[in-house]
Amino acid sequence: MSGAAAEWDVAVVGGGMAGLAAALRLVGLRVVLIEAEPRFGGRVETLDVGGFTWNRGAQVVIDRSGPTARLADDLGVSLRKINKCGIPLWMSGKLIQARSDFSLFAALPLSLTDKVALAMLMVKVRMRYGAALAKAPDPTDPTQRFLDSEQLDRFVRASSMPSRELWDSLARNSTSLAAAQVAAFQPLSNLLHLTSVEYVVEGGTGNLVKAIVDALLVQHGTRLIRGRPVKSVTDTDGVARINLEDGETLLARHAVLAVPADIAARIVDDLPSWKRTALQAIDYAEDASVAFSLSRPATDFLPHGIWRLPVVGRGMIGLCNAEHASPPDQPRRIAGMIRGYTGHDTAHLLRNMAGEDRHAFLLADLDAILPGAAAACTDVQVALWQRADSPWRVGRLKHIEALARPTGRIFFCGDYVDPSGMNGAVLTGQRAAAQLCAARLGEGAR
Ligand SMILES: Cc1cc2nc3c(=O)[nH]c(=O)nc-3n(C[C@H](O)[C@H](O)[C@H](O)COP(=O)(O)OP(=O)(O)OC[C@H]3O[C@@H](n4cnc5c(N)ncnc54)[C@H](O)[C@@H]3O)c2cc1C
Repeated sequence: MSGAAAEWDVAVVGGGMAGLAAALRLVGLRVVLIEAEPRFGGRVETLDVGGFTWNRGAQVVIDRSGPTARLADDLGVSLRKINKCGIPLWMSGKLIQARSDFSLFAALPLSLTDKVALAMLMVKVRMRYGAALAKAPDPTDPTQRFLDSEQLDRFVRASSMPSRELWDSLARNSTSLAAAQVAAFQPLSNLLHLTSVEYVVEGGTGNLVKAIVDALLVQHGTRLIRGRPVKSVTDTDGVARINLEDGETLLARHAVLAVPADIAARIVDDLPSWKRTALQAIDYAEDASVAFSLSRPATDFLPHGIWRLPVVGRGMIGLCNAEHASPPDQPRRIAGMIRGYTGHDTAHLLRNMAGEDRHAFLLADLDAILPGAAAACTDVQVALWQRADSPWRVGRLKHIEALARPTGRIFFCGDYVDPSGMNGAVLTGQRAAAQLCAARLGEGAR
């Protein structure tokens, strides 16, 4: 079969942020996008809960000039800066609310010895590693290589339980796993880039997905297929064959694989060993996000000005007042909503519990953190994500280049290639589209 027989120029497999961003960049080409689930968006999904916006998956847009924010601007999707007036933390049974990093540090429930150790470590991280952490992952950078070879717990050497719990919470907020399971590189990088400025998509992150899908349909004429999983992809005789589970085969000159790494390794036939090794080095951690509907305003429990409360030492690792992420003019049918989220261990535990036990566990956790909130809770909804994050394990840096490299007619993208959430997904989707367009130009020149 020759490439000329292909009905499609490009088949994009996977309709999460990476696949959608890739398809948007393939202007002027005959593009088909195939998504396994009945909806597009993957780990981006928004529901209405009593008139509040519940982002079941991704919620915060980081970096106003980053790839996700620029994509939203291009599509006319509004981002809202979160209006907050304090830096909160819940730790050792206490809610700490501070006006600045410094006052938060002063209020931390740590011994003087721990505080001195933490302060010295933070100075060292900024002075010695700050420049390397500010760069994109680069396997030739010796500082990045060092931080990639050290587990976070070994790097920080926390000597007391509260201090260890604090680092575990940071690690979980960044990768879903505890400090003993991940390399120092990614959590430290997130720590340095944690800005006090955070944005949400007006009306929910799902609105960004909707805007991309509309643009693909209306402006680009992309054929969008959903609810039909791809079973296998082969690259032979100058054509990419996309075999759907229901038996149909689509022929395309090129394919973009925008599915999680383990799925790419499973469905692409005859992968070269260097690519298979890199894809198999990636594993996934679980997350749960929870919507607590309330009969009282969330500010009764999360004091005014708190939009997001990082939590140390509990099953939930953070709570958000959904009021801040919901359009102010949206009519409300309940008085308040709190969004909670967990790391891997708790999400895994919840997945193996019966529904009632799950709710009881979550309400007990909520009540321990914000006393009285569980009594005001009228409904609990839980989203369990089995592949929420691809945590940065020790030694990942050496796979970075191979993860991004195409194999023949197949190009790869997704947040496992550049694990920085939606920004990584969008960036690598756009990068795969650029690689593919360059390859087409090369083929045309020959
Ligand atoms: C609870 C939670 C909170 C998060 N919070 C944030 C946040 O605040 N900010 C942030 O930036 N990021 C956040 N993230 C991470 C962010 O959602 C992801 O990094 C990003 O959406 C990943 O996009 P992706 O396209 O790489 O992967 P995915 O979204 O996983 O997309 C892959 C797609 O491929 C499809 N697929 C799989 N197999 C097949 C097949 N065989 N055939 C066809 N299609 C297939 C899947 O159904 C899916 O739609 C969060 C994630 C979770 C789970």
